Amino acid sequence: MTDKLISLVVPVFNELEVIGEFHRRATAALRGLQGLGYEIIYVDDGSKDGSFETLSRFATADSAVRVVKFSRNFGHQVAITAGIDHARGDCIVVIDADLQDPPEVIAQLVEEWRAGSEVVYAVRGEREGEGPLKLLTAAAFYRLLSRIVKVEIPANVGDFRLMSRRAADHFRALREKDRFVRGLVSWLGFRQTGVEYHRDKRFAGVTKYPYSKMVRFALDGITSFSTVPLRLATWLGYLAALGAFLYLMSVFIQKLVGITVEGWATIMVAMLAMGAVQLICLGILGEYIGRIFTEIKARPMYIIDSVTEDGSTYSSAPGAAPAPPAGLTSSTPTVASSESRASSQQSVRD
Ligand code: UDP
Ligand code: MG
Repeated sequence: MTDKLISLVVPVFNELEVIGEFHRRATAALRGLQGLGYEIIYVDDGSKDGSFETLSRFATADSAVRVVKFSRNFGHQVAITAGIDHARGDCIVVIDADLQDPPEVIAQLVEEWRAGSEVVYAVRGEREGEGPLKLLTAAAFYRLLSRIVKVEIPANVGDFRLMSRRAADHFRALREKDRFVRGLVSWLGFRQTGVEYHRDKRFAGVTKYPYSKMVRFALDGITSFSTVPLRLATWLGYLAALGAFLYLMSVFIQKLVGITVEGWATIMVAMLAMGAVQLICLGILGEYIGRIFTEIKARPMYIIDSVTEDGSTYSSAPGAAPAPPAGLTSSTPTVASSESRASSQQSVRD
């Protein structure tokens, strides 16, 4: 008898080449879990390659599969969030569709959950098939993040993780739009443990995270959890003031000993340097103000085109909160209300 349910949340964006193999391996891995029923929630993040049609076929063939289709591409982090919003399980596992995260590792995550952890994240031991630039920038980013962010965000951890129902319900109350999901989950606290795994290379297709999206993602990570960059302006200001004072002294001394300097180069350099510092500071302010702007518009975080389940497709009503199948929101009334005041992320990651 299986009395507990595990939900697998899979964000999908143009993954036609991998989705069949993923579904086969994920289903096999979930069936192998003792004492757990399962459901798979695919979130189609505006795919244009026919991924959705394949996913609906899975949903028609298997009542354990649900497909949440976005009206357009809202980005990976938002797709994960929508999947968690629609999950009914006692525990929820988020996993990429490209088989970089092996579904077989889920069994280890479940083991730690059963041992009492509210969050079990999968730590990348080795990473295959990722270029040196990606590895280098990732390492630098996490070093910077750990220095300026008070919440401890473990390094080498992606979005492949298990959350208990309790952790997921708390996570669902966080409706900020420029989302850095791994940071938000760390922020929740509770008992969190890591399980090391070998990250494979992508099974087929190419990454859906070009560098532009990655830079945006990194900025979201920093600005969501730290205001240190804002303070940078103050520090630079002090530094510039100190430099100006020292230079003033040197000008005095030169005057006293009778050296006359033409000074054109010095003035140019000082002017350009100050201009650069001011622009950098304006840019930093802009990053935060832009995020305040997205937040204040209070658009929904995502728009659902349809939900396919048990062979039928429900369309979502305009203006309504994402239309979940009956009974979905009843267990989490707090979120239903926060959903209505939530949030849209502009398609900033596009
Ligand atoms: N993805 C998504 N929306 C996006 C970009 C990616 O749902 O806008 C999905 C993608 O289909 C995959 C997962 O997010 O399941 C991770 O993306 P990808 O493997 O391309 O990223 P990488 O592993 O290269 O960082
Ligand atoms: Mg990948």
